[in-house]
Amino acid sequence: MSLREAAAAVRNNAYAPYSEFKVGAAVRAASGTVYVGCNVENVAYPEGMCAEAGAIAAMVAAGEARLVEAYVIAGSPTPVTPCGGCRQKLAEFAAPDAQVTMATVSGNEQVTTVGDLLPGVFNAAHMKS
Ligand code: ZN
Repeated sequence: MSLREAAAAVRNNAYAPYSEFKVGAAVRAASGTVYVGCNVENVAYPEGMCAEAGAIAAMVAAGEARLVEAYVIAGSPTPVTPCGGCRQKLAEFAAPDAQVTMATVSGNEQVTTVGDLLPGVFNAAHMKS
C-alpha cells in the first residue's frame, strides 16, 4: 500500500463532527513500516489532535523514532499543509530533507521537505549550554 493509499484510507476514520474537515496522514518509518493517523476532534476544541500527530504517536508507540517520508491528505481545494505544531512534530523525528507530500482528495499533490516547511526549527542543539 502506498503512503497515499494509507493516508486516504485512514482519513475515512477521522473524527471531525465539528469542522467536518477530515485529514489523513501516513508516515514511513526508517524500518519501512507505515503508520497512519487521522484528526480526532473534541467538543472542547483545543483538545483535538491532528492527523500527523496521530501517525507519529503510532510510530513511536511501535518503538520507532525516525520517519523518512510523510503524506497528508484532506478534502481541501489545494494540497493541505501541516499546521505549525505538526511541522515541529515532524522535525523532531525526521531529517530536514525528508519528503512531505501534501495532497487533496481529488489528486493534487505538492511535494516539499520537512526543512522547507519549518525554517529556523527549534531543535536539540538549542538546549545545549
Ligand atoms: Zn497539526
